[in-house]
Amino acid sequence: MVHAVAAKESNNRDVEAVRTDWDRAEAEALYALPFPDLIFRAQSIHREHFDPNHVETASLLSIKTGGCPEDCGYCAQSAHYDTGLKATRLMDKADVIATAERAKDAGATRFCMAAAWRNPKDRDLEKVCDMVSAVKGLGMETCVTLGMLTPGQAARLAEAGLDFYNHNVDTSPEFYDKIITTRTLEDRIDTLAHVRDAGIKVCCGGIVGMGERVDDRLGMLVLLANLPAHPESVPINLWNEVKGVPVNDSAERPDPIALVRLIAVARILMPKSVVRLSAGRQYMTDELQALCFLAGANSIFIGDVLLTTKNPQRDRDASLLQRLGMRSQLGQSHVA
Ligand code: SF4
Repeated sequence: MVHAVAAKESNNRDVEAVRTDWDRAEAEALYALPFPDLIFRAQSIHREHFDPNHVETASLLSIKTGGCPEDCGYCAQSAHYDTGLKATRLMDKADVIATAERAKDAGATRFCMAAAWRNPKDRDLEKVCDMVSAVKGLGMETCVTLGMLTPGQAARLAEAGLDFYNHNVDTSPEFYDKIITTRTLEDRIDTLAHVRDAGIKVCCGGIVGMGERVDDRLGMLVLLANLPAHPESVPINLWNEVKGVPVNDSAERPDPIALVRLIAVARILMPKSVVRLSAGRQYMTDELQALCFLAGANSIFIGDVLLTTKNPQRDRDASLLQRLGMRSQLGQSHVA
């Protein structure tokens, strides 16, 4: 497989350019490279497009929690499962803005707002648009995740000034229906197209550790990399244990080296996308996170909680980035 990659490269020296025609065999061959070769290649590409010593810091707030009619098999917020989570109504704008201000003070540059809906009702969308405009007014980038959108709803969010819309593909096309049955992958691709057409940047990634094979993880990356345009943000989530959801029966935490390999392949396939270590970072050692940064990850969520799951505390993140001599808005970091 390694030879297949080398042959393709020699025919196409532009392999590091942005491509949307990757095939699964190429991704597999990259994944199978000797670890030093893979990391060198990913880091080299990373340096062409990003400051390798900088990490983006985003903050995530659940503005409407639980009671979701979708059946995503990993999610504490699905109404299909008895997870013990209490459903809440859409938060008041004032509370959202106060939380955004605190996140900004803590070093977040992007504020992401998530609502557990299949799709937003137009009257709720208007409230979210007000929140988006107000958070923009704080000088932060904005992202929302509200489920499926119509073209008109995407246009309305664009008008409100939304920077990013998050809508994950979650996993590979082959594994998808083992995780979700209430909406199709095509539904998701349609929403991503509406978001693009409205001129909003796309945040789209998935989850690893739900019992999928390595081939599924690579299939997910190839799916993302072959969208008409690469998502500007690619969140990679590590499965979080959630009481009462079906994924518990199949979940298996990936080998740390396998995770680093996956991040490196994401970096190579989508050279200009920001790759974010999202949920599950509390399970990663400092050393594993450092390897992920070397492999091309360049964004993290900060804060104590991600929607309904735990996240490393700010002090731990600040300490890690300081020891690595990496910069973020968490504070000016220098080699300790
Ligand atoms: S992941 Fe989102 S859409 Fe799926 S059940 Fe959870 S809140 Fe609903």
